[in-house]
Amino acid sequence: MFGIKENLATILSSIPKEVTLVAVSKTKPNADILEAYHAGQRVFGENKIQEMAAKHDELPKDIQWHMIGHLQKNKVKYMAHFVDLIHGVDSFSTLKEINKQAKKHNRVINCLLQAKIAKEDTKFGLSFSDIETIITSEGLKELENIQIVGLMGMATFTEDQEQLAEEFSSLKNFFELLKTQHSQLKTLSMGMSGDYQLAIKKGSNMVRVGSAIFGARNYIA
Ligand SMILES: *Cc1c(COP(=O)(O)O)cnc(C)c1O
Repeated sequence: MFGIKENLATILSSIPKEVTLVAVSKTKPNADILEAYHAGQRVFGENKIQEMAAKHDELPKDIQWHMIGHLQKNKVKYMAHFVDLIHGVDSFSTLKEINKQAKKHNRVINCLLQAKIAKEDTKFGLSFSDIETIITSEGLKELENIQIVGLMGMATFTEDQEQLAEEFSSLKNFFELLKTQHSQLKTLSMGMSGDYQLAIKKGSNMVRVGSAIFGARNYIA
């Protein structure tokens, strides 16, 4: 029998200590999250702001909540008082909204810019040149309540290991290049249940793993 605790232990034993494991608990009940929590897990990821806010209200306050989904600007206010890291920022106007809401709570919210690395057109994300434009923009300096601490990417939904490796490597190379000019960049979030081992091999230091911990989700999220 495998359970959440065993799955977590297996994954943690197979990834380097420097890699942060984000346990993606979207659609899963609080009981499942608490099982992972009692096994020592503190970082959880959700892709819907209101679902994450409800779970934050109900669960232990030392959980670090990561927003990994696409952001609707009008909902940023529901998480601004507690969110630990926002992975999926893909426009300057979203950064401005996060800044505005963070300011109300006197916080600095850490953000990752989402890069488009997949070949599919369905995935959100910025081109590498758009990322560079945002990071070097004058306007960014005025946003004192956000900090861009890294990049996030989602690879194509494919079994093709060579293609996945190439997409992860392209983001890692760009991240390293950008870091030479912007030393605040520390986090490279890439890799999910099916590809986190490969993502780590290609330079990821934060993986977002859901179904390999909690089991398959009952509905598409
Ligand atoms: C759902 C989700 C994950 C986790 O997916 P699994 O395949 O269940 O590990 C990771 N990242 C994002 C952005 C997601 O939406």
